[in-house]
Amino acid sequence: MNSQEISIRTGSRSELVDITPQLSRLVKESKVADGLLVVFVPHTTAAVTINENADPSVQTDILNELKRLVPLTGSYTHSEGNSAAHIQSTLLGPSQTLFIQNGRLALGTWQGVYFCEFDGPRTRKIWVKIIGQ
Ligand code: ZN
Repeated sequence: MNSQEISIRTGSRSELVDITPQLSRLVKESKVADGLLVVFVPHTTAAVTINENADPSVQTDILNELKRLVPLTGSYTHSEGNSAAHIQSTLLGPSQTLFIQNGRLALGTWQGVYFCEFDGPRTRKIWVKIIGQ
């Protein structure tokens, strides 16, 4: 029941990175048939979300609307200059819990798990814990 770490390098300020393949590989290696996978992002300007992995325009729309809702510049007080990234990350949240069924991640047909970068490009960590028999 140790946690594992995935490292990814993001390529732009805001970006959604599909991490479903990496999570599926960890589930396979764990040999857990029924259980839970918890994915946690230990960063304050990044998040993890689950959404459509079929049409990439959905990811573009999500990022564009988050930028519209929380603009890069505004009447922010945080001196580091990345308040928008902090706010966007807290809107989506740092973790997701997924079911493992029959040795595989149980996702809806059109769902993928996305690491959400809001203050890149950076090298980021993702922690994963798999719980099960
Ligand atoms: Zn900051």
